Amino acid sequence: MCGIAGVWNVEKSYNVLHDLLLGLQHRGQESVGIVLEDFKMIKSKGLVSQVLSESNFLPGNCGIGHVRYSTYGSNTEIQPLIGITSKGKFAIAHNGNIPDAESRINSLVEKGSVFNSTLDTEIFLHYISLAPYSDAILSIQWAFSRIPSAYSVVILGKDKLIAARDRFGFRPLFYGRYKNGYVIASEDSVLYSIGANQIVEVLPGEIVIFSDSGIEKVKYANTDVKFCSFEYIYFSRPDSNFLYGNVHRARYRMGEILFEESNMAGDIVIPILDSGFSGALGFSAASKIPIELGLMRNRYLGRSFIMPENREEIIRRKLVPIPEVIKDKEVIIIDDSIVRGTTMKQIVKMLKENGARKVKVGIHSPPVIGPCPYGIDTSRKNELIANQKSIGEILNEINADELHYLSVEGLKKAIGGDNLCLGCLNLNYPV
Ligand code: SF4
Repeated sequence: MCGIAGVWNVEKSYNVLHDLLLGLQHRGQESVGIVLEDFKMIKSKGLVSQVLSESNFLPGNCGIGHVRYSTYGSNTEIQPLIGITSKGKFAIAHNGNIPDAESRINSLVEKGSVFNSTLDTEIFLHYISLAPYSDAILSIQWAFSRIPSAYSVVILGKDKLIAARDRFGFRPLFYGRYKNGYVIASEDSVLYSIGANQIVEVLPGEIVIFSDSGIEKVKYANTDVKFCSFEYIYFSRPDSNFLYGNVHRARYRMGEILFEESNMAGDIVIPILDSGFSGALGFSAASKIPIELGLMRNRYLGRSFIMPENREEIIRRKLVPIPEVIKDKEVIIIDDSIVRGTTMKQIVKMLKENGARKVKVGIHSPPVIGPCPYGIDTSRKNELIANQKSIGEILNEINADELHYLSVEGLKKAIGGDNLCLGCLNLNYPV
């Protein structure tokens, strides 16, 4: 879970990177890093608004940036990484995970490489250095063709900016025109939001090179698209668009199909904000059951001085029930997924304590039964409630009156295609 960004040939790239990373903040809140022209770098734990303040401004007309939620390596490590390779100096920012990173790192170390971080991302720098070419682009191509998955990356060199995706296209990446130059980001909505135009997807298996001579594209591998279905279910912004269209619309259809498959009946539909909102709208439209604000989301929890002492307290602060809406009602709550089950259990309890007659739970994705090796932190296998328990047991555990998930076929229909990774949902991992 990370967001990456890049800027080429735009004055005050620092400000542009700030705005791009701010728009990608939902993809990672642990740390922020940017590298600008001449490899000037700022990295720190914290949010974009805390790390990239006006007082830290650095000049430069190009750069790359990263927001991180750690999935591999220590959570004290912050990207981008800078390395001096035999092909020149590079800074790299990476979204995704290399599933066999450990054996690759061990084999490089045995051959004499010295690793400076615990991040799988560093493997790219070692491979670029070891590539049997003197040319930097050929070396980068060689490195990518040896690592099947999972990555979307931006690389800054002395006179070039490079954007690339693995041949499966697990993680998204887009670029567009901005003023006299170019901007790159994990999600297209972020590029639109800063006023970029002519927005194009970096294709799976493609390297896009930005330099003073313009754009050059190199296809370095045959594509076999397996886009992460979780980007559609939960991870990305609702205003983003991927290969099968808009994320909000896909979630809306997930809600519609969830109703068609489950036929759940009730008095009101309550979305779990923000993740279940689009799905709840779709469910409500299809079922003709009115949608209501029964749980209000407190957006400012992070700024509280009185820290909650346990998970129950955290959820109570995050989602505030409105008793007048809930009392004596048969309530259907809609959320995107259940991972460990602890949050849903608290929500059901809270709704019942506030007078709900019945609480039914609709999940607009199939049960999460496996971990993600490609860069989303869906927890370990034994922490996933749907891996450990049957649907009936989960229903008992969360103490709801009904529980319905969307089917895998329903999910594919809602998204609109099947060039998707569904590994954590059906254990059919593409790599
Ligand atoms: Fe996405 Fe799940 Fe595949 Fe990971 S395993 S890439 S979270 S669909």
